[in-house]
This record gives sequence, C-alpha cells and structure tokens, in this order.
Amino acid sequence: HMEENIENLVIGSGYGGAVAALRLTQAGKKVVMLEMGLDWEKEDGKYKPFSNLITPKNNSTWLKKSSQAPMMNIAMFNKKFTGVLDRMDFENIKVYAGRGVGGGSLVNGGMAVQPKKAYFQEIFPELSVEKFWATYFPLAQKELEVNEIPDAYYEKSAYYKFARVGESEAHEAGFETVRVPNVYSFEYMKKEEAGEVPKSALAKEVIYGNNHGKQSLEKTYLKKALKTELLTIQDLHRVDYIQQIKNGYAVYVDIIDTEGLVIAKKTINCKKIFLNAGSIGTTKLLLTSMHKGKMTNFDSSLGSHWGNNGNVMTGRNMVNTLFNRVENESTESNYSTGTGSEQSTIPVSGVDNWEDKKHAFFAEISPLPMGMEVYTALYLIINKVPIPGHISYDPALDDIRIHWEKKNYQHTVDNAKYFIKKMNKANGGTPSGLLWKGGYGPDICYHPLGGAVIGKTTDLFGRVKGYENLYVTDGALVPASIGVNPFLTITAIAEYCMEEIIGKDFKK
Ligand code: FAD
Repeated sequence: HMEENIENLVIGSGYGGAVAALRLTQAGKKVVMLEMGLDWEKEDGKYKPFSNLITPKNNSTWLKKSSQAPMMNIAMFNKKFTGVLDRMDFENIKVYAGRGVGGGSLVNGGMAVQPKKAYFQEIFPELSVEKFWATYFPLAQKELEVNEIPDAYYEKSAYYKFARVGESEAHEAGFETVRVPNVYSFEYMKKEEAGEVPKSALAKEVIYGNNHGKQSLEKTYLKKALKTELLTIQDLHRVDYIQQIKNGYAVYVDIIDTEGLVIAKKTINCKKIFLNAGSIGTTKLLLTSMHKGKMTNFDSSLGSHWGNNGNVMTGRNMVNTLFNRVENESTESNYSTGTGSEQSTIPVSGVDNWEDKKHAFFAEISPLPMGMEVYTALYLIINKVPIPGHISYDPALDDIRIHWEKKNYQHTVDNAKYFIKKMNKANGGTPSGLLWKGGYGPDICYHPLGGAVIGKTTDLFGRVKGYENLYVTDGALVPASIGVNPFLTITAIAEYCMEEIIGKDFKK
C-alpha cells in the first residue's frame, strides 16, 4: 500500500480537469492529476493506433468483451482492455464517455458549439451572460483551437455530401440550418482529401479515437500544462472515494492494469481537490464519499438536476427520396441520391429549431460512414430537459443508479417524431427502423450533464458547499441540458471558476 502527500490534486483529465491543471500550473502550483484511463501517448503511443468505426479492436472499448457503439459493427474481443470508449448501462439510459488522458476529447466529434444566449441565461440565471460572451467563450475557443470548415471545401467535398443533403432537405421542410465550428483541423482534413497526409476523419475514425487531425486536449490544454513542468499525470489510477482528514483530504485510489484488475492501492493525502471526473464520475465520487468516507455535509441537491442534454438518436431511411426529388425537381439532382458512400466522421452542420417554442431542439446532422451508400440520414437531436433526473448511491451495489423515466424524456421523443415526420413529408423517406427499435433512441446519452450543479451543490464558482478546498469544475456543474453539444460550455465555465479560485483561494 502506497501513500503520497501532495498539495493540489485534479481527478480526471477531460475538459474541466485540463482547464484546472493549466490554470493552476500557470499560477505556479504543483499539480498531480489522476486519470483512470490510459495515457495513450506514453511509450511512443504503444497502445495506439486507435480503431476505426468498421473494425474495432479491443482498444476501442473500456473493459468489455465486445464493442458497444450504438450503431456499426459489433466486434468481439479475446481480452478486456482499458479501451477509449466506455458505455455505462443504467436502468433506462446508456451513458457514453471517453477514457484516457484527454477524457471525452479523445472520442468526441469535436463540435464546439456556443449555446443560445437566452438559453444560457435561463440555465444559469446567476451567471453573467455578458462576461461569458466577452471573455470565457472566446478564451475557450482560442485554447481549444476551434476552427470552421471553409465554405469552398464544404461545398465541393464528396465527404460532406451527407451534410449538404441534410441541410438541403431541412430547408425543404422549412427548417433553418447552421454551420458548426469544430476542433478538428480543416486544414489537415483538406490535406487528407488531397492524399498528402494519413487519413483520420476521412478514414472512418471517431468515437474510438482519432489518430490524426483532431486537436484533443493532450494537444492543447494538457500539453501547455505539462510544459510548465509542474504537472504530473498518473494514468490507470481510479479514485474510489474521498475522506476528510486533518488539514485536507485522503483520497483512496485503485491502480489498475490494462485488463482492469486492481494491482495496487494508494492513498493520496492532499490539501485541495479539483473533481473533474465528468458528470457521472464526479457525482459518483461525491456520493460514494458521502457513504464510504462519511462526508455528510454536502448540500441536499447533490445528485439532482441530472440530464442527458435531451439526446435522442434518430434516422431516416431515404430510399424513396430519390423518386420524390425527381418528381419535385426541387433541388440539385446530385442531392437526391442518398448521403454518399464516403463520409467524413466530423459533423459540421445542424438544424436549429430553437426559436420554435413548441418544438425547441437542435439536430446535429451526423455522418454514418459505413463505407457504402446506406441511404440513411442520421441525427443526434438535443433538447431541453424540463424535468431533470437524479443520481443516487446504492450501497448494496457500491455503485450509483440513475433515475431516468418516461417523464424525463418523452418530450424528446415527441420532438424527434415531429422533426422526422416533417422531413419525410417534404423529402420522402421513412423513420429508420434499421438503427433502433422504432427509429428513436432516447435511452442514449453522449452528453451527461449535472449532478453537482453550480449555485446548488457548489457555490457560484464550483466550491463544494459544506467543505473547504473541494471543487467541481466539469460537466457536473451544468444542470441537465445546455441545448447544444456541451464541451465548449464546460470549458468556458471551468475557466470562469478557476479564475476566481486562483485569485482568491490560495492567499490564506
Ligand atoms: P470528461 O471529458 O468525461 O472527463 C472526465 C475524465 O475523468 C475521464 O477521462 C474519465 O476517465 C476520468 N475519470 C472518471 N472517473 C474517474 C475516477 N473515479 N478516477 C479517475 N479518473 C476518473 N461534446 C461536444 O461538445 N461536441 C461533440 O462533438 C461531442 N461529441 C461526443 C461524442 C461522443 C461519442 C461522446 C461520448 C461525447 C461527445 N461529446 C461532445 C460530449 C463531451 O465529450 C463531454 O461533454 C465532455 O467530454 C465532458 O467533459 P468533462 O470534463 O465534464 O468530463
């Protein structure tokens, strides 16, 4: 059994953790960061290359014997491995998350979307929208290296036919569309298409990691933080729970091997803890610490205001759209032949129906790169979550439960049905039964949010109520939904919290 004494501990290396690590080290503080997943860059990227969508290897999947993607091929593995994409199965919802140094940035589609101003204000009534728009969102965009697809490239690339068709069909149905910024480098993608560099987005890589092109956190925030030489990252370190001790906290850690077996135990004694294990991870750690660590001073809101960002996966079978289009002669003819056999994995456009008060949603026009024409349009729809769910700890399981019922998601299915119906009426097509039962997947969650919400479980700057020197600066702070893909907002909020914490909490 090992023991370590340190000052500042960051748990988790996703967006929140990366911001905390950079701002602490830049302020001259030594930081230890724990990550339960692999450092994919160590030993010359020994465990890479990452898998593509079509032929997942065991490095695609966190400790299961088969791949777990919501679509695509299911592959079987001989051995469990600490792969990059996790799926946590709860009673009515399956939550996906990235595992490894970089957290969700390793697996996600890179969409860096700023929420609607009015909705941000509705979700965070006590935060200053003006300050976020003037300072924290631009800062997050700069540090994350957000860029936009050039129009000329978008208009002509065969790999974005799915998106052009998606936009054109949405317009046909009377919807508005928007182009969405991303952290995948479009300069790199252009070179991929020109055959000048190894392909990643254009070679069906995403979800199980991108080997090139995507500016994930190990290339941005974490790289900068490591450069200060004040940051130590320990991978395959999974925190079990926390306990208050004299002058700080004891943190109980399991060190695991790449098959997930516990090979050692460690206690880290520290002064300050920055919890950044993601919405599910952070909430679980706090609830577990309440039971196992006897930390009973938390605010009663802990575990509540949880949601899936209103995620619904849905699709349209487009086989009959071809005939419909020829009859209508309404759109460019090349738009009427499916979504393309070659598709970039990086989404760049969406349907913005936020102004429609009855059916407020944002639908990401998603690729489905199967390597052949599948005549299927895929959408990840994002909604409000007016009735949030909650998370509780079950001592018998030594795990959490997510309470997520029909009342929490029925409106998201209604919105998805409304959207698909309108799209099919205008363009032809049928709900895609190929992908999910009935064509609608409200049990999926790519965007877990909440559980330790700002202004409720923490103060207005991520300080956990009831304790000192204990902070949350990740997706757990955001109550249930932000209406668009969330990592830009999570990064901006972490920047805002860290500015205050570094300014005020180190002087004592
Ligand atoms: P995370 O990024 O989840 O980081 C938490 C880290 O903590 C993880 O690395 C985890 O392994 C680690 N951890 C957890 N528990 C422990 C523990 N007990 N001990 C040690 N370490 C622990 N969002 C967008 O904005 N745009 C997109 O295009 C987009 N696409 C997505 C696609 C997929 C397939 C998925 C799964 C998500 C996508 N998201 C997207 C969501 C986005 O990635 C998340 O919202 C974001 O990563 C959350 O950031 P975070 O800092 O809260 O937590």
